[in-house]
Amino acid sequence: MKVIQHSKEALQRALISNSTELTKLYNKYTEQERRFLEEGYNAGQPGSLFQNITVHSESDWIPAHPEQPQDFESFYRDLTRKTPSANHNTIYIQTIGSFGEARPQTDQYVEWLREYCQVFFHGVTVKLLPTVTVFCVFISRKPKDAFCIIGITMIDLYPKDSWNFVFGQASLSSGMGVFSFARYDDNFYRSYAGRLKKQQKLKKDDYSVFDGYYIPTISSTLLLRSSKTMTHEIGHMFGIRHCQWLSCVMQGSNHLEESDRRPLDFCPICLRKLQVAIGFKIADRYKVNLIKCGAACHSGPELPKLTQDFYSSKLWLQKCLTVLQSDL
Ligand SMILES: [Zn+2]
Ligand SMILES: [Zn+2]
Repeated sequence: MKVIQHSKEALQRALISNSTELTKLYNKYTEQERRFLEEGYNAGQPGSLFQNITVHSESDWIPAHPEQPQDFESFYRDLTRKTPSANHNTIYIQTIGSFGEARPQTDQYVEWLREYCQVFFHGVTVKLLPTVTVFCVFISRKPKDAFCIIGITMIDLYPKDSWNFVFGQASLSSGMGVFSFARYDDNFYRSYAGRLKKQQKLKKDDYSVFDGYYIPTISSTLLLRSSKTMTHEIGHMFGIRHCQWLSCVMQGSNHLEESDRRPLDFCPICLRKLQVAIGFKIADRYKVNLIKCGAACHSGPELPKLTQDFYSSKLWLQKCLTVLQSDL
């Protein structure tokens, strides 16, 4: 295992930049907010709020995809990035296809995800669209006030062995993405019976090939994994690229084990990107997040109890708020 440890100077440049304009903008944060964001410099030290990225094998994202890390300045100056506006301020979640037989459980699950995204992207509205059965309908529907639209499905999107599987695909330019949670269930690899039995010629718009596919049950692990994927992929819609600075939900992931290692929230550098795009007060975002994570253990009679990660997240959010709200 290798720890990626950036120097304090490198993290400072990534967070604040050397530009006078961006330093001025940074100085508009309150002293508490700055102290909190600069907690990132202490990554790896005992009691630190943020951790360093660890690389466990050559198949992890960073060794497999060498790319220029995106610091705050390159994000800020990226002309292609999208910012919510008064007329485009809604993130839509569109469920596609069947989510299994337990309809009430599915509805609660999707509503739970919606609420989770709502607190995570504090300041924009997150709404659900009525379920559609096929992808082509999804593609043609984009409400006028949409900042982006995220399609989610339990159908495995890559049913052929030769298709390198991914958990989702997002297009920043169109503000649309579609993600499958089928492989987020631990039983997927054990009991998956949905592979194509033989090569079939598909007619355009014929999705019957997906009939009878394995649909995972809604488990706490599925909730955790899908929460991370949703927020990661929506983060891309804002133009936030894969994080190479600190342990962060925006880290790229090549495999399930690597995505499981990601924390639920942003590092300070990615947080500043999101804050500039949406304009929330940092403490307010953590407060609503804390309420959501605190309520996670009472997530409704149909949903399973959430994993330890949400409890740890609750404690972490409390610590963040202590820094953000303490007198200097
Ligand atoms: Zn990604
Ligand atoms: Zn980050």
